[in-house]
Amino acid sequence: MTFTLAIVGRPNVGKSTLFNRLVGKKLALVDDQPGVTRDLREGAARLGDLRFVVIDSAGLEMAEDDSLQGRMRRLTERAVDEADICLFVIDARVGVTAADEYFAEILRRRAKHVIVAANKAEGRAGESGAMEAYGLGLGEPLRISAEHGEGMDDLYRALVPLS
Ligand code: GDP
Ligand code: MG
Repeated sequence: MTFTLAIVGRPNVGKSTLFNRLVGKKLALVDDQPGVTRDLREGAARLGDLRFVVIDSAGLEMAEDDSLQGRMRRLTERAVDEADICLFVIDARVGVTAADEYFAEILRRRAKHVIVAANKAEGRAGESGAMEAYGLGLGEPLRISAEHGEGMDDLYRALVPLS
């Protein structure tokens, strides 16, 4: 059995870095079609013995004529609706922002399952930001580093009971 995981969160928290790590660079490149606007990028992911579909809300970084906030909301709602599990990423070095609170509210209303990940937490970085993420009320945050591959074992353990 497989499942769909949507990576959601405000721009620049490391969603695409995590997407690339989960699908592998080769697949991500194949999936990237220059000149084609694909708001939700989808890939085949593997983590340990888990195989699943992962969605990256790639369109958030593209300049469009309507407001970023409106785009963020619509894209997130689409990703959430398509997904069995949402991985809500925050930047552990920045802590919880107003935009994060806004996403948390959407996820509380719509998501079937939410895992919170405080990213950019390699080494001992971002400990207080990760603590702040508890306050989102979406469960115990994982401390991960998408760039350095840290915390992937914790992500695996969080996904297994939901898969
Ligand atoms: P997105 O906008 O949420 O998709 O974020 P990106 O994946 O494009 O990453 C935004 C920036 O954060 C880039 O400069 C990444 O290199 C950086 N980044 C992503 N993950 C990590 C991480 O685990 N640690 C650190 N220090 N930087 C990261
Ligand atoms: Mg991105």
